[in-house]
Amino acid sequence: MAVPYQPVITREQWRATPDPTYLLAAMYDKRTLFDLSRPVDKRHIGRLALPSDRKLRLFACAGERLIKAVRSTALRLEAVAELGESLADGLITHDSLGEYACYMCNATCAKNAAELVARNVAHKSGLLVAFHDIMGDPFSAEQFVARVGLQANSDVRPLVSFVNWENGLIVKTAQHIYEAKSFGELPVLADMLVDAGQSEGPELLQHLRAPGDHYKGCWALDCLLGKG
Ligand SMILES: [Zn+2]
Repeated sequence: MAVPYQPVITREQWRATPDPTYLLAAMYDKRTLFDLSRPVDKRHIGRLALPSDRKLRLFACAGERLIKAVRSTALRLEAVAELGESLADGLITHDSLGEYACYMCNATCAKNAAELVARNVAHKSGLLVAFHDIMGDPFSAEQFVARVGLQANSDVRPLVSFVNWENGLIVKTAQHIYEAKSFGELPVLADMLVDAGQSEGPELLQHLRAPGDHYKGCWALDCLLGKG
């Protein structure tokens, strides 16, 4: 007799759980988001995807910055976070970490780095904000379609096709914000999308306009940049 499907985590718990360590573990447990005993619905394929190494590393870097705020070794930790972000985006290799290699050794595996930082800084509420900003909400249909729309082989209709809009200005602006980490300019992107005729994606626009903290790896910015 088939065992009834029991999701490990519900949408409500995903949004309310105060512990990023638990959310990370949930992402690696596919029963969390998907009933594997049933035929695969293509609309749900994205939910089966594990977080990319890039996302995990960027989450770890966000944690480094939170540690930085409470420790006297701020300079060193800032340097580690900067290097970690470059590592996440493939701009440097592990070999070039130099004197930070020891500290970053746990980051050889992106998942370990994310788990380590989640355990160490779980008590800091800012880490949960960073987690939700970077990982997004896997239960959100809009965020799901926005992500899947970036996948070349998907037959799911992309939420929007940004690349050529305004002669690429939207993507260029997004790229500038990403590189400069000038997240205060994200509402400008929302305005540009609306001006360009973007009528879908209320969650995307809402997120870009949301006050508060955004991080490198922000799901909305990544959607515009085609990063996963
Ligand atoms: Zn964000």
